[in-house]
Amino acid sequence: MNTNLLTKDLLSALGSVSDLKILDMPSDRTKFSRDFFDYSPVLRKKLEGCCADLVVRPQTVRAVASVAEICHRHGLPLTLRGAGTGNYGQCVPLLDGIVMTMDALKQIRDFNTVTGEVTVEPGCLLGDLDKYLSSKGRQLRLLPSTWRSASIGGFIAGGSGGIGSVRWGFLRDPGHLLGVEVITVEGKPRKLSLDALAAEALNHAYGTNGIITALTLATTSKVNWQEVAIDSADWSLIVNLMQRCSKAAVELHLCSLLESKIVQNIPSWSGSFNGMHRLLLLVSPDGLSTIERLATSAGASFRHLGAEKDLRGSGLRELTWNHTTLHMRAMDPEWTYLQMLLPEPELEAMKNIKSQWGDDLLWHLESVRQQGAQRLAALPIVRWRGDELLEQLINQCRDIGAIIFNPHVITVEDGGLGVVDGDQVEAKQRYDPKGILNPGKLKGWSK
Ligand SMILES: Cc1cc2nc3c(=O)[nH]c(=O)nc-3n(C[C@H](O)[C@H](O)[C@H](O)COP(=O)(O)OP(=O)(O)OC[C@H]3O[C@@H](n4cnc5c(N)ncnc54)[C@H](O)[C@@H]3O)c2cc1C
Repeated sequence: MNTNLLTKDLLSALGSVSDLKILDMPSDRTKFSRDFFDYSPVLRKKLEGCCADLVVRPQTVRAVASVAEICHRHGLPLTLRGAGTGNYGQCVPLLDGIVMTMDALKQIRDFNTVTGEVTVEPGCLLGDLDKYLSSKGRQLRLLPSTWRSASIGGFIAGGSGGIGSVRWGFLRDPGHLLGVEVITVEGKPRKLSLDALAAEALNHAYGTNGIITALTLATTSKVNWQEVAIDSADWSLIVNLMQRCSKAAVELHLCSLLESKIVQNIPSWSGSFNGMHRLLLLVSPDGLSTIERLATSAGASFRHLGAEKDLRGSGLRELTWNHTTLHMRAMDPEWTYLQMLLPEPELEAMKNIKSQWGDDLLWHLESVRQQGAQRLAALPIVRWRGDELLEQLINQCRDIGAIIFNPHVITVEDGGLGVVDGDQVEAKQRYDPKGILNPGKLKGWSK
């Protein structure tokens, strides 16, 4: 603990804020300073020692503003936390200080029955929000595979896409986030309502440039998703089939492809292992017959597992996105992963990388919509062979034209396209002029 930061003044100021819980037990400080960064051996080395001096849990927006004011006055780092399921140490306090867990702010404030837009507080769990929307005949467009445990605020500030990306692209695409309520970190914190355009700068900014206390999202009509598994021993055939399915006039919520050695090692919720590669889909009821026709005419074996809502236990969605990595790491913690958009032609690119890495790299593909076009994203499972070889792999992938979203780095920019987003930095200047929020995570901020 950096006891210098916790002056008597500061503790008494925080102690006098109503609707604020203070968690100062060492076990709480450790627990609330971690996320799932240990999927990356690189981040593990960098982040393992970081620990908040104090954790606070506001129950009201007013208490959030009081914490912002006190941290500003004392020049104390303030790191926000949703459910702590991020993979890049997004909510890990690099410079210690205060961690503010937003999990008690979880009200659904408004639902517009005409547009389907929902306004919700950031700590609301995605599973709870989706359940609420379901009762209104709606559903979330995008969900991470951690949809049961993650918060909506953390998803917007730290996530990127996932289930639904095959149809709806990524969270930063215009049209998903329609507005935010934000508390600034200033001498006198302001509560601002930002429209969709102004909210863009806070989207995927790791909580570095404003404290989100509510957000408005677009939703979509609820669909009775059907689970489908398609198997083939031929990699080229099943990649082509995946592309045909994702380009067909069929509504999909998920279209994920796993190399056979992955199927062998993950739970058998999609059926037992039969030595083949496996395509997993969530399909609308009126799309089933088309997907079956495409699969059987390509010579692949098609299985309709049933309606997602009727199937007990974990569904297909928890075998995909970064849950694939989770299951592989549960079998062998030496596995790590990478994230990229594959260059076209994808089969040639994958063959190239595979020829150099063999079974130390297993392909896991996700069909996504990127800037309006269907593309193949990849989250290959990679055997950890040290920093240098990981760097070499990243360079090999870049050399063949892949766009890398590096999960082994700490800053917003390095994990994204590598460039500074001037709007994000400008928003930080406006809403966090002392640079107190989540310091060290926004590379474009040089103060
Ligand atoms: C097994 C596994 C699978 C995953 N699959 C996916 C996936 O499919 N897609 C995906 O995008 N991610 C995925 N993730 C990463 C992560 O689960 C999601 O991004 C999740 O939505 C993060 O939500 P959270 O509540 O845990 O946020 P946290 O990890 O707590 O926080 C994320 C970021 O948001 C900031 N933040 C939190 N609350 C606020 C607020 N009120 N205002 C401003 N900033 C705030 C934090 O400071 C932090 O920088 C996965 C992770 C794991 C471990």
